Amino acid sequence: MSKNFVRVRFAPSPTGPLHLGGVRTALYNYLFAKKYGGKFILRIEDTDKKRLISNSESYIIETLKWCEIEPDEGVGYGGPYSPYYQSKRQKIYHFYINKLLKKGFAYYAFDTNIDLDRKRKKYNDCGLTFSYNYKNRMELNNSLTMNEKQLDTKLKSCSSYVIRFKIQPGEKFNMYDIIRGNIIAYTNNLDDKILLKSDGSATYHLANTIDDHLMRITHVLRGEEWLPSMAFHILLYRSLGWIPPHFAHLPLILRKDGKGKISKRNLETLNFPIFPIQWKVPDTKIIIPGYRELGYFPEAFVNMLALLGWNPGGKKEIFSLQELINLFSLEKINKSGVYFDIKKANWFNKKYLNKKKEEIFFFLCKELQKRSIQYKKNYLWEIIHLTIDRIHFIHEIWEHTFYFFISPISYEKSFFQKICNIKSISQLENVKKLLYHINKFTDVNYKYFLNKDKDKKRHEIIQLLRFSLVGVLKGIDIFMILKMLGKEKSIQRINKLINKIKDTII
Ligand code: GLU
Repeated sequence: MSKNFVRVRFAPSPTGPLHLGGVRTALYNYLFAKKYGGKFILRIEDTDKKRLISNSESYIIETLKWCEIEPDEGVGYGGPYSPYYQSKRQKIYHFYINKLLKKGFAYYAFDTNIDLDRKRKKYNDCGLTFSYNYKNRMELNNSLTMNEKQLDTKLKSCSSYVIRFKIQPGEKFNMYDIIRGNIIAYTNNLDDKILLKSDGSATYHLANTIDDHLMRITHVLRGEEWLPSMAFHILLYRSLGWIPPHFAHLPLILRKDGKGKISKRNLETLNFPIFPIQWKVPDTKIIIPGYRELGYFPEAFVNMLALLGWNPGGKKEIFSLQELINLFSLEKINKSGVYFDIKKANWFNKKYLNKKKEEIFFFLCKELQKRSIQYKKNYLWEIIHLTIDRIHFIHEIWEHTFYFFISPISYEKSFFQKICNIKSISQLENVKKLLYHINKFTDVNYKYFLNKDKDKKRHEIIQLLRFSLVGVLKGIDIFMILKMLGKEKSIQRINKLINKIKDTII
């Protein structure tokens, strides 16, 4: 493919936040454009006025920025084919709709909603589904059954009409989708879709086709939900005398629980985030956090999304954006739906976390500052190295390291009741003695706890020791904790628990 030849677009409707699927569509378009030195365009498809949501556009732009997959052209970026808002291109659509009318590829339809509902009901009663098509259009209220004069009079008297595409029946034709291969379409299966709505604005189908052509889009990469419209779009291109772009319909992203595709509609039933960045629900105070707010790194998020439906082959899973660009190919995109697994998203974040030690360090410093706690740099670094394996996100570092800096203020209630009793006082006293007599405390290891006691008892003692040092039965290897705290602090903490047990039970 020659340089600058590829032109792809991401064409969201500003009807709310993007979800994972939308961002993936943008990403694949971006990767494909960059791979071939082409252009990635952002077009806002705001034809459906009733569904517009005001802050969606800025949300889309902010998301692309966060993911570092910014457009070269389009809304917010300018370019030679502006305007990139469909709402500002209505005149262009009217020009082409007139062409279609003149050529006999489109016609006026005057049927009211009441008429059409009646028809639908009639069909339903006979167990059929109504669709406006070649079979019934001559019996309906449209310009196909009128002469020029009648139509003229009708247009003058009737304030509301739509313009429909006239499908020629009886044709079978081949279409090609880069991901799915050859697809056969039958015009008899298509209905006469509306091109111009009763409010005079173009529908998605008309606007999308005209814009893709005028903006010189070479490849349309979009969600699978648009596959059923492909035949109709190809006929539209043909009737306008244009060569269609190449099409690739991306697989759906499915829920792992088998409950269908990921969508905004069933947000409450999902136990994982689906928005890239936080969404402020308009006119309410509700804020739904996105991957960004939950602590995912944009590189990890992008890496995870790239592999959600595409794989370059091989076992490697961690790719930089540049590597993704170099390897990306439409042919390696899955045909079938892909399951989304939040555990895998967390896994990706963890992989990137290992490269973010400096950020973890600063985060930990801030946590300590908030509590006016001071520690030597080396100590903090050592702690980070000891605990990094246990976390997936930077913000988790504090809950995994607090006990290195503060002695337990309280003890986990249920464990306290379960494992602390008169016997544990003497067990803790013994451990204390044992630790007290270790000269080289940095060498402390399990061997010091190997005594004549049975294994079970030893386990009990170590549990108690952990409880005294951490306040809960959590944390890294107990001997590492002892080493990091040092003899004095460890013994102080043991004493503290002994006193607490005494206060409670004696
Ligand atoms: N506006 C459509 C959407 O938001 C875009 C479909 C397309 O890419 O052709 O899904």
